[in-house]
Amino acid sequence: MPALKLLKLPPPVAESWDWQMDAACRDVDGAIFFHPDNERGELREERVAAAKRICQVCPVRAQCSSYALESGERYGVWGGMTEEERKAARRRRVVR
Ligand code: SF4
Repeated sequence: MPALKLLKLPPPVAESWDWQMDAACRDVDGAIFFHPDNERGELREERVAAAKRICQVCPVRAQCSSYALESGERYGVWGGMTEEERKAARRRRVVR
């Protein structure tokens, strides 16, 4: 019988995602956080404002925005910030 080779699995990462269990958006339709193709103007502003209202009362907002900034999330509202706001925040961090 050949020697049993143990697999090297990556370490558990559940702790780094545990914060999502408390997310205010957990039971909300995720479509509110991501713009559909060609969404512009008032419709976009209203959707973003609705998403931000959810983020505003979210108990894990800080973790969420840190995650989105550090991982470079490119799309959607995360931690109450839009794509454009995260880009601006990352630029400010680089300048400092
Ligand atoms: S901050 Fe907003 S996007 Fe992030 S987990 Fe909370 S509700 Fe969801």
